[in-house]
Amino acid sequence: MVIPFWDDLTAAVTEHPFTEELAPLLQAGDFKAKQGEVSCVYTRGKEKRVLALGLGKAEKVTCETLRRAFASAMRFAHGKKVKRLAVLVPHTRLVSEETVSSVAEGLVLTNYAFTKLKGEASQKESPTVLVEHLSLIGVKCPEVVEKIQVVAKGIYLVRDWINGNADDITPKMLAELARSLASSTPGLKAHILEKKDLEREKMGLILAVNRASNLDPYLIELSYQGDPSSQDKIALVGKGVTYDTGGLSLKPTDNMLTMKCDMSGGATVLGTVYLAALLKLKVNVTAVVPATENSIGSKSYKLGDVYRSHSGKTVEINNTDAEGRLVLADALSYAIQTLKPTAVVDVATLTGSIIMALGEEMAGLFANDEGLAQDLMGASEKTGEQLWRMPLNPDYKDSLRADFGDLLNTGGRDAGAMKAGLFLQEFVGTTAWAHIDLAGPAYVSRPKHYWPTKATGYGVRLLLEFLERRAHS
Ligand SMILES: [Zn+2]
Repeated sequence: MVIPFWDDLTAAVTEHPFTEELAPLLQAGDFKAKQGEVSCVYTRGKEKRVLALGLGKAEKVTCETLRRAFASAMRFAHGKKVKRLAVLVPHTRLVSEETVSSVAEGLVLTNYAFTKLKGEASQKESPTVLVEHLSLIGVKCPEVVEKIQVVAKGIYLVRDWINGNADDITPKMLAELARSLASSTPGLKAHILEKKDLEREKMGLILAVNRASNLDPYLIELSYQGDPSSQDKIALVGKGVTYDTGGLSLKPTDNMLTMKCDMSGGATVLGTVYLAALLKLKVNVTAVVPATENSIGSKSYKLGDVYRSHSGKTVEINNTDAEGRLVLADALSYAIQTLKPTAVVDVATLTGSIIMALGEEMAGLFANDEGLAQDLMGASEKTGEQLWRMPLNPDYKDSLRADFGDLLNTGGRDAGAMKAGLFLQEFVGTTAWAHIDLAGPAYVSRPKHYWPTKATGYGVRLLLEFLERRAHS
């Protein structure tokens, strides 16, 4: 059982049954109840272990401090291989729903393991959750916990797709996953464009990137119409490069090591639309995912050559590793032309440059529309998935000027994340558009707070919250 304490060592709950058992710990002075501090006391009773969990200062508590504190309790339980965990929900200065949802998020988002590829697991159904029975005690709004369990189901799925072998999560498999979500979920519709459809639609950039791969490209659409009476429609475009070698601009070994994660944006938008349908949000939303590998071989698309995009603009390639913006350019112009969305948000592990600027814990936000940017920043504030607004300075467009094509695909190393944004902006016209570069937080090198190592599922809760805000407006 987990019992939360403030840093003056008062329990953050009205009462608990272990006052006597915990008294020696509290008197010894070893446990300071700093945010996320965990101390374990062993008892002879039915509860073998009682965990005292520190929440820090009562007057400084926020949703995020709660998520992080309860994440450490879950991590401690994992260390002890605990299968059953009861948690007393604290009373805080926040409103009760916020407290309950933050506690549940901290616990549930941490309670995940990717074990499918372990030898002993391959024979049987492997567990996703390590603590199998989690109960929250003292909850007056059970619907809040139920919602978070649904959201976690989607986030676990997204993490599994991103963590999965690139040889398994191929463009075709992503298309099939979208189809199977659609067939099992009321209100969800999948529409899959195959290679011949991409040729007919003249998506020259996706086809160029795909050329060296022996796997066909797909453009995956997953739609949910939760508000048929409204003309408003959001398009979420996610980069689906299922493996990125860099192409002829081949990546060095260390940089290629994580490149099965290059479809994180695609996984994120598919997971978000799936959850929008499960939660029956009153919103119309379509995920659009250009899915391909960026391989290397004799058919590779070439540096110095010019390729024609879906929009008609031509692109002169000066770096074949800047393929994400190429597949997104075709997907954005196709989505805007065919869906006529009110707003479009693209999500992509797009540049190493954004990691240099913001590190692993924040994503960069670029936008041509203030209202859209504000909604996304507000959603980020709420969910704790950190976003930083970056500029789109038109002065830097000069660096994309090409000798033969209309545009170069990269404008040099400096301000690389912004120049990628400026490139994408060339394909959205006047539509309200935002671009989230989540190359940092999508796939992390070590566990942090309620993120496991590798795929985090960053962006799913952020986009869901954004859709909820749009639904109410
Ligand atoms: Zn690349």
